[in-house]
Amino acid sequence: MRVVAAALALFCAGFAAPDRVEYTLRPEMLDGAMRALGVSLTFTGDADGETVLELPSSWGGEEELWRGVDDLRAGDGASLGAGAGPQFRVLRYAPGARVSVSYRIIQDGEGPPVSQGRGRYRPVIQPRYFHLIGETALVVPDVDEGRPARVRVSGLPRGWRYASDLQHGGLAVANLRASVMVGGDFRVLNAPNGHARVAIRGAWSFTDRDFAREAGEIIGAQRAFWGDERQPFLVTVLQQEAAPGNRSVGGTGLSDAFAFFATPNADAGMITRTLAHEGNHTWIPGQIGGFPRDETLERGSYWLSEGFTEFFTGRLLVRQGVWGPAEFAADLNSMLDAYAQSSANTAPNARVIADFWSDNEVQRLPYRRGRLLATIWDARLRAEGRSLDAVLRAMRARARAGDPRTAGEMFLQVAREFGVDTAADLTTYEEQGALVRLSEDVFAPCGHVLTEDAPRFHRGFDIDATSANNNVIAGVDPTLNAYAAGVRDGMVLLRRDAGEIGNANVELVYVMRDGDAERTFRYLPRGHGAFTRQRFEIAPVLEGEALSQCRAVLAGN
Ligand SMILES: [Zn+2]
Repeated sequence: MRVVAAALALFCAGFAAPDRVEYTLRPEMLDGAMRALGVSLTFTGDADGETVLELPSSWGGEEELWRGVDDLRAGDGASLGAGAGPQFRVLRYAPGARVSVSYRIIQDGEGPPVSQGRGRYRPVIQPRYFHLIGETALVVPDVDEGRPARVRVSGLPRGWRYASDLQHGGLAVANLRASVMVGGDFRVLNAPNGHARVAIRGAWSFTDRDFAREAGEIIGAQRAFWGDERQPFLVTVLQQEAAPGNRSVGGTGLSDAFAFFATPNADAGMITRTLAHEGNHTWIPGQIGGFPRDETLERGSYWLSEGFTEFFTGRLLVRQGVWGPAEFAADLNSMLDAYAQSSANTAPNARVIADFWSDNEVQRLPYRRGRLLATIWDARLRAEGRSLDAVLRAMRARARAGDPRTAGEMFLQVAREFGVDTAADLTTYEEQGALVRLSEDVFAPCGHVLTEDAPRFHRGFDIDATSANNNVIAGVDPTLNAYAAGVRDGMVLLRRDAGEIGNANVELVYVMRDGDAERTFRYLPRGHGAFTRQRFEIAPVLEGEALSQCRAVLAGN
């Protein structure tokens, strides 16, 4: 049907009816509270009188997304039939007619969004606001992806704001899915440097102004890195409720936006880092060759898309002056620590492909291993008078010039041309899963990477069983420090006031309910035995030439 539509468009060029795909969103209110978001979709049908409608299905670990689509109906003169699966419908109409479809976006599940280790990507429809990711909320007709599209909002209650990265001209059907739309009691403001617009709601430990300024600075630094002009970019922030003792910040990079999900106790540092990471996804991997089309192969290249994004997160934060060498080292060290203790640290890439969405440690692996490989390759490239920066910029230039290769294929080729062959490393570390070790001088002259034994981290009770048990403590190990401090099975975990998950050398402070009393427990979260980890230690005195060389190593060129 796509082919037919394209041929028809060519044939009729100049006198064709407007073929824009139009969406209108309209909040459905009852007694001042939003219950659903009505959507009307209008477009010009194909010559064969039939178009498949694709409902949201699975995205970002969310499944059965069509459950958020309610009361899907065809407009006058059209009819809807079943499609090839629950996410498809077949719309039939008079050949070439302008057709319309309506549906309601509803929240599939009760209550405000709650953090479950990642963002709530399913539609959020609450009494005073909504939050939608295009992928999970829009029903999209199977027409030429290059067809013009427009999304409008009407009937917003007084005082409501609306913000979306779809609020600009020149939109095509291809842009609809990787988008975010928020409305309601969001506050919408611009970064002073004009590099970002922010939509945020709820109370935070930082001000809207500071957040918008920092967002603008981070996006601005990334654009400067790639030599890009200023263009519209939206940052949305959805506040999610936290389970006791939990704090989370996450987000998802979209084509010209990022949607940010955080618990109210998130601090500015976590947010800065997430902003920097997600902002990098505007370019990595989409503009440097992109993913393979197949979803399985896509997961197989997360070492590049997530690992390189992590590498450039640290690099650009140093470059922009948000981090000094010490902050860079602290961030890297907490990753090295987690990597060393991870149950999945020697998993081959095939396991990343298979278990990315089902095993948390496997999910973190491409971020960690890819970042370490990027660090090693950058050092080798610098020894050749090049850098990973130069490789990525060259990849982008080739992709823009029409090189059809994916980012993974192109990386191998460009790095080789720049004097570094990465094929053997990919076999050893990605295919076979060998543990990556940084060389001692990989960041020289910034300092040394030490390899040392460290005590194992253990909370002293079984956190998974406790979480599954509504935070009632389970599996206290009588031989560990939590028991010695007085923690017992059956107490209720209320919150964590201090400590660093994964670090056995920082005191953990938990507040628990013991019968009617609230008690505080402090202890070093040590397990049995030790493990080997790597740690980047900044040189004690860094100044003059050494400091500027160090800066070049961390911040790139
Ligand atoms: Zn990412």
